[in-house]
Amino acid sequence: MSKTKSDSHSLPADRDLYSGLIRLHVLHHAAEEPIFGLGMIEELGRHGYRISPGSLYPLLHGLEKKGYLRSTQQRNGKSLRKVYRATALGRKALEASTIKVRELFRELMEGV
Ligand SMILES: [Zn+2]
Repeated sequence: MSKTKSDSHSLPADRDLYSGLIRLHVLHHAAEEPIFGLGMIEELGRHGYRISPGSLYPLLHGLEKKGYLRSTQQRNGKSLRKVYRATALGRKALEASTIKVRELFRELMEGV
């Protein structure tokens, strides 16, 4: 039986284990295009991560505080929304993490 993407929804979610992955995911998308909170919640949901605004916004603020993301206000119809982009430092951190992830990925997949 092959595993499909939706299988991950039925597996127990461990927040501690996933939080780093979610951060990397956010950083990855912020390096490609400007992101905003609700859009990111949707994107993470597609990957099987269920994250509430109450968890995502502090995570975004944390990454901004570290200097990995920079936020600007953008007009969206009548309201303003905060959009985030990866900074040069954020891109560097992402690059370094990618090497680590690739290594881990290889080891994890060896047993499959
Ligand atoms: Zn994604």
